[in-house]
Amino acid sequence: MNQDIEYLLEEASEMGRVRADCPDCGSSNTFSATYIPNSLVVRYNCFDANCEVKGSKKVGLQKSTLKNGLFTKPQDCPMAIQDEISLSNFSSLQNNSKAIEYLQKVQCYDLYEQKHIDVRYDIKQERVVFVVKELDGNRNVNAVGRTLRSNGKPKWFKYAKTSADYKIGSGSIAVLVEDIPSACVVSKLHDVVGIALCGTILSQLLLNHLVKTNYSKIFVCLDKDAALKSIEICDTVKDKVNNIGVLFSELDLKNMNEEELEELIWKK
Ligand SMILES: [Zn+2]
Repeated sequence: MNQDIEYLLEEASEMGRVRADCPDCGSSNTFSATYIPNSLVVRYNCFDANCEVKGSKKVGLQKSTLKNGLFTKPQDCPMAIQDEISLSNFSSLQNNSKAIEYLQKVQCYDLYEQKHIDVRYDIKQERVVFVVKELDGNRNVNAVGRTLRSNGKPKWFKYAKTSADYKIGSGSIAVLVEDIPSACVVSKLHDVVGIALCGTILSQLLLNHLVKTNYSKIFVCLDKDAALKSIEICDTVKDKVNNIGVLFSELDLKNMNEEELEELIWKK
């Protein structure tokens, strides 16, 4: 498949819907892709009458696969192989006031200073880049960059085309969130591991990690507009882990202080 279409489908799986110029025929704004949460596919087509671009693609985890036992067919786990990535195109954050300001705004600068998180800068794309290690290892398998341009698209960019599950902190409680700064913020609480999906799709790798790690409690806390997806993830996983629930937060975790976070998590 056309690389650009692949990219748009991936974006649709995160954003829910994407409208763009057609990568195939080049018509302006005729390409449309929509994520269908119930079946975990992205459907796409081009509205140009002379263009044949049309289809659907599975993304993330398939509910039917889960019911029938885990990932028996190779095509069910396209995200399973994560190559190590090179970080040589990124530069240091040193003296980059805009990037540092961003980290401060999302309450991550202290973690960066204490070297708990590896953050770099992509000069070309003007992105603050969070380096993603594999879930239960030390290899750098992805990098996720947040644009600093005021209307930069996409807001978050994944440098490798695999899942980018990001885990930080240690403890017996896991809180699943959408983006990396939220995971960082929540990991500051005692006994809490923050895990960012970098989107709203539960990857096979993350599911394996959750099952294997035996957390005493798992909370799914995606952004407010993705509450339904939180529930879906919870439904998909609940028979495989000890204790999982959805947390509904009115506020964005990145903007909450410690007291508010504790209130949200411990009142459960
Ligand atoms: Zn087209």
